[in-house]
Amino acid sequence: MRNYVAVTCSVLLAAALLALVIDPENGIFNEYSDHVDRELDEPLRVLAMVSAPTTAAPTTTIAAPTTVAPTTSVTPTTWPPPPTTWPPLPTTTSPPATIAPVTSAVPTTKAALKPKAKKKPKPEAQTEPTVAPTPPADKNLDGGVVISPTGIALPVIEKLAEGWKVETPCGLAYTIVDGTHIGSADFVIDAGHGGSESGSVGPNGLVEKELNLDVANRVASGLEALGYTVVRTRTSDVRLPLKARAHIANALSPHAFLSVHHNGGATQRSSVPGTEVFYDYGAPESKRLSGLIYEEMIASLSAFPTSWVRSVRAGVQARLNQDGSDLYGIHRYTPDVPSVITEALWISNSGEADILARQDVRQAEADAMVRAVTRWRTTSDAGSGFNEDFVDGTATGTGGYGECADPLL
Ligand SMILES: [Zn+2]
Repeated sequence: MRNYVAVTCSVLLAAALLALVIDPENGIFNEYSDHVDRELDEPLRVLAMVSAPTTAAPTTTIAAPTTVAPTTSVTPTTWPPPPTTWPPLPTTTSPPATIAPVTSAVPTTKAALKPKAKKKPKPEAQTEPTVAPTPPADKNLDGGVVISPTGIALPVIEKLAEGWKVETPCGLAYTIVDGTHIGSADFVIDAGHGGSESGSVGPNGLVEKELNLDVANRVASGLEALGYTVVRTRTSDVRLPLKARAHIANALSPHAFLSVHHNGGATQRSSVPGTEVFYDYGAPESKRLSGLIYEEMIASLSAFPTSWVRSVRAGVQARLNQDGSDLYGIHRYTPDVPSVITEALWISNSGEADILARQDVRQAEADAMVRAVTRWRTTSDAGSGFNEDFVDGTATGTGGYGECADPLL
């Protein structure tokens, strides 16, 4: 029996180590690990249950969710080595003969990015995956993106005599001649997940990637109706690595970059929507926009009563790696762009998944984001719902370049 236990433990340990090694994006982004995080947060959740408000507060006086001490014990202290080989060229699409590795334009490491004045200096200890070669240039030569005929936004590397040299979602160089060039945008709207990455799935079968795309489209349309220019990272069911999404935002220098998600994982009951919003660490305007989005979302979504749930992170905060960098790639890869990740409701909770299937609820969520953006641009309102920033680098990691296959461009 003792031998059996020892062998079992060894196998589990080996499996965990293997998972780290084959998962170069570990810690970059996803909420699949929510159930893991929540389990680790169990003692804190008990505290939160004691102090959580029992009645819905008026929208102008939303109580900040329970402050949670940084979780310093769950962050890996070492990082897996970056991959040293290129991913195979896409086989499911038909890349032209001109496709070649990016060698000169899009930064892939923090060191290659232009320093971001609004953020505190951060250690360079964390090694970024370098599937795409690190280019020497610190910005796009001509800027902007080219929207391909299939609706994919491709950051421009270089203007050619005929067409553009652009970066594909998988980080490869590609020559395109029949796209539409967009030099800048007021906002970049990102629908989280897509393609093989479904995100959370609700008890009613609602799939997060589809919900995210629908809400993101509604947000984009709402902003466009106000006269803003908007670029969407995806307009169809395609998988985009996080760096591809970030590079689109970087290429367009928008006022803000909004990534739309819906949450999943273990939770506790709540008297108000358990909305979570994440901002750029050390970036006041990203934080203010996040607080406004939270405020508007709570006001809007509370109008659709259901059995709400929340985690200890309900509210607004930055989530950090142990080295002080933003955990989420959406933030870390866009050092010059205020970025926000929204987790409006819990798709894993049947009551919330049911209302999220409704068009009016999705529109209310999108309208809340549009109102928040308007307030952000036209007032100095501070927003509300702020928690302490916290350290928790635990994530299984999706959104990397690994096994990347470019969509049809
Ligand atoms: Zn998500």
